[in-house]
Amino acid sequence: MNWVSLLPNERAAELVVPLATAFAGTVDAVAPRSSKWGDFRPAHDGKPARIRVNRDLPPDAFLLTLLHELAHAHVDAAWLARRAAFSGGLSPLKQLTSVLRGRPARPAKPAPHGSEWQAAYRAVVTPFLTEGVFQPGVARVLEKSLRKPKASCGADPALLQVLRPKTTERPHVRDLPEGSAFRLVSGRSFVKGPRRRTRIACTEVGSGRTFAVHPLAEVVWTDAPLPAPTPAAPEIHLHP
Ligand SMILES: [Zn+2]
Repeated sequence: MNWVSLLPNERAAELVVPLATAFAGTVDAVAPRSSKWGDFRPAHDGKPARIRVNRDLPPDAFLLTLLHELAHAHVDAAWLARRAAFSGGLSPLKQLTSVLRGRPARPAKPAPHGSEWQAAYRAVVTPFLTEGVFQPGVARVLEKSLRKPKASCGADPALLQVLRPKTTERPHVRDLPEGSAFRLVSGRSFVKGPRRRTRIACTEVGSGRTFAVHPLAEVVWTDAPLPAPTPAAPEIHLHP
């Protein structure tokens, strides 16, 4: 296990290693990918199931991504078992009869972040919350996220905000020197002007019109000498 040292603390390792060991596949920390934090691939063509998590994630994000993928692994294993039980238990004639009666021929494959996954994720994450493994700020947002009706998908913006590595934060308009060109998330480009009471007067490139821009507006590109802005954090997990 090349990833135990990436966990937030020893208690996290004690709790997650048995889960990873029970998983009939491989778990690896891998070189960072910009499109996703982790992924789960079911067993196929004789290859075992596989979980991969980016090794550059901060400890809490690494752990939560691993738990997210383990929940996928759990749903997949449960589905395979249901499917095997179904095909094993019915003769071809009975399967046909079952279809004619309007019943599904086989158990339906669960949706990637559907209710089964949500239940598995909740079950997997809860002991880590109870044991105080996560930093308080992360735990607070995570608890709230789990309570939401359609809880706990990796796409929860508040959760991503608290987990996101500092290096992927975009600069704000207030951080730029006056006179620098910049682009906002909306795609509109401006040149930064003087600060007014609560806003910054900026001239739109192209139209030449002046706009009052919020100092905390996020900058996606600038010619100012700042660390290159990187894309916002992706969802924890992107499905093909
Ligand atoms: Zn996922």
